[in-house]
Amino acid sequence: MAHAAQGALLPSAAELLGLARRLAGQGPTAIKAILVGQDLEAAAREMAGLGLEEVVLLEGPGLNAYSGPAWARALTPLLAALGPAWVLVPHDSQGQDYAPVLSLGLEAACLGPVEGLEDTDGGAAFLCPGQGGKVLWPQRPLTPSAVLSVAPGAFPAAQAQGPAAPLTRLACAALAPGIRHLGETEGHGQSRELAQAQSVLALGRGLGKRENLALAQDLAACLGACLAGSRPLCDLGWLSYDQQVGQTGATVAPRLYLACGISGARQHTLGMRGAGFIVAINHDPQAPMHDLADLSVVADLPQFLQALLEACRAIK
Ligand SMILES: Cc1cc2nc3c(=O)[nH]c(=O)nc-3n(C[C@H](O)[C@H](O)[C@H](O)COP(=O)(O)OP(=O)(O)OC[C@H]3O[C@@H](n4cnc5c(N)ncnc54)[C@H](O)[C@@H]3O)c2cc1C
Repeated sequence: MAHAAQGALLPSAAELLGLARRLAGQGPTAIKAILVGQDLEAAAREMAGLGLEEVVLLEGPGLNAYSGPAWARALTPLLAALGPAWVLVPHDSQGQDYAPVLSLGLEAACLGPVEGLEDTDGGAAFLCPGQGGKVLWPQRPLTPSAVLSVAPGAFPAAQAQGPAAPLTRLACAALAPGIRHLGETEGHGQSRELAQAQSVLALGRGLGKRENLALAQDLAACLGACLAGSRPLCDLGWLSYDQQVGQTGATVAPRLYLACGISGARQHTLGMRGAGFIVAINHDPQAPMHDLADLSVVADLPQFLQALLEACRAIK
């Protein structure tokens, strides 16, 4: 399943293709992508350009706005006819909603969020977090077909390979029972600006005190970065919850992620490890965020933010 937002393919689509190619190496070889919704031709063509067997665009009046029941009703007969060994779904807000419903309709196991893959003698084992993320459980489905809800950023994105895939358009009349979609207004969930930001300046408890927020805001403005943060800062009310990155917040994939005074708890890194270049700024050289970082800065955060702001202003 390839997801798109505002007509643009999400990075999770290429990541799922990367996982699909690994799984194809162990058995089934045909890989198809399905997109659901309207105005997705550009996203479908982008997906087709990555090289797979076929891209299916499922369109219909009941599928214009996301609805779990409508998607599950539309996808179940299509997938049942295709008979896939694996159905890969991004574990984003939509995927974690419809994946279990889909698995019920297909009488398939449902695993997720899948964060890793172990190739064992007995076949593929999928690593899924348990006990609030404290452990990873290797799991193997017992059904012939399985729905895998895959954590964003867990697998490297596939590179384009082979010729572009043919695009098949399918019309679907499935409707969510008893629902009429009347429009759209901005909610309190993940902000679109953050989801699509190319640079993110994320603040953690290492910011120290609320007064340092203005410094971070000035730096974010100077860098043209979107301000975000860890959950404790949202719990403190220093940031709003639509700025929270992580398991219970937004999933971001910017080109640059500045992790400022963030320890690197897995509940946070789940939401940002797909970032292109990660800078960790933390006075503790043992902080786990340094392990994920492309560039580690061991420094006092407010002092470093001040120095970076001055450098940024000088360059501008
Ligand atoms: C079910 C569940 C879901 C969760 N979901 C999320 C989520 O979606 N997002 C999320 O972020 N968290 C989430 N959490 C919380 C998560 O487990 C961590 O507690 C949280 O991410 C820690 O935030 P932090 O790194 O800002 O704070 P801390 O862990 O307290 O780390 C602060 C860091 O700042 C550094 N520091 C301190 N002072 C300075 C200084 N002066 N200069 C430089 N560095 C300094 C410290 O060395 C430390 O590494 C969740 C937890 C649970 C149980």
